[in-house]
Amino acid sequence: MSDPAAPLAAPARVRLPDAAPLLERRAARLAALAEGHAAPEWVRLLSRIAWGQARAARQIPLSPIAPLSASSTLSPSGGEGRGKGVAPLASRDPLSLAPAGGEGRGEGVAPLAGIPRDAAWRRMLAMIVDAAGAPGLPAPARDALSWLAAAPADRLEPLADAVLAGTVPGDLAACAPFVGAALEAWLASLAAQLGPGATAASGDEGACPACGGPPVAGTIGAEDRLRWLACARCATAWNVPRVRCVACETATGPEYFHLDSDPGAKAEACPDCRAYVKLFDLAKRPGSEPAADDAATLALDLLLAEEGFHRAGPNVYVGAGEASSPAATDLTHPSP
Ligand SMILES: [Zn+2]
Ligand SMILES: [Zn+2]
Repeated sequence: MSDPAAPLAAPARVRLPDAAPLLERRAARLAALAEGHAAPEWVRLLSRIAWGQARAARQIPLSPIAPLSASSTLSPSGGEGRGKGVAPLASRDPLSLAPAGGEGRGEGVAPLAGIPRDAAWRRMLAMIVDAAGAPGLPAPARDALSWLAAAPADRLEPLADAVLAGTVPGDLAACAPFVGAALEAWLASLAAQLGPGATAASGDEGACPACGGPPVAGTIGAEDRLRWLACARCATAWNVPRVRCVACETATGPEYFHLDSDPGAKAEACPDCRAYVKLFDLAKRPGSEPAADDAATLALDLLLAEEGFHRAGPNVYVGAGEASSPAATDLTHPSP
């Protein structure tokens, strides 16, 4: 992705995901993190989900990204038509990727922000459902997999909307990680098709330049110490050089939280808007993968919740949005 001839002073700002290898690395990382974890069976389930995502990213063909109309904001190549406002289908087509959380962000338009969903994500979901099953699954997860395997498109599409908006109804909460994972595999595969120059240059450090989504977590380079955030929706990574809040962009110094039980993991929390994002230091925590290490460090989320902070972006495996966190409800959302 990065141009080797680019001057060192200007490191590539965006790393588009190489979807299948990235998801395979994540699956292996989750399998490793399950060892010694307080909830090993849950982390192994996430690893199986990630293997399913990787297989789906390898095997499910995608329609090429094409502009939807003459005024489309979705052109991946030349950028014509971008920057003219909201993606045209985002607000009226129920199958489109809802721009949840992206309101009012920046001036550049992320090329995937309004892309219409086609059936590919549902084929990916079927593969993930296949991969996730295993003997001894807890009843809610088993029931969710049965429901998802049988659900027709007209039930799955509204559920996808709800997952993206963080408004999954309680009776379907256990389905959210699988649906979120399918949407991520699909969006990551689409992001992989974007040209290096196609991403939005909004100057908004808190929004994914490929899809406009929020960050799930980030890493700090072992040697260069560069901070990279990873998108909660499409796994694109972007470089955030300055110490500013990724949610409200205030320059007020952040507060840091960590737990001795999770070395190399810290939460950077904004005293103004109370949002936080976890950063994993690759020098102290080699092999970290943002979504995997984020899911495996829920104890830190519990601490931040007790301190009155909220996540800057969701983790698809834990629950898409504040309203739901299946399989880990008691870990992430203590009773008030
Ligand atoms: Zn994204
Ligand atoms: Zn803030």
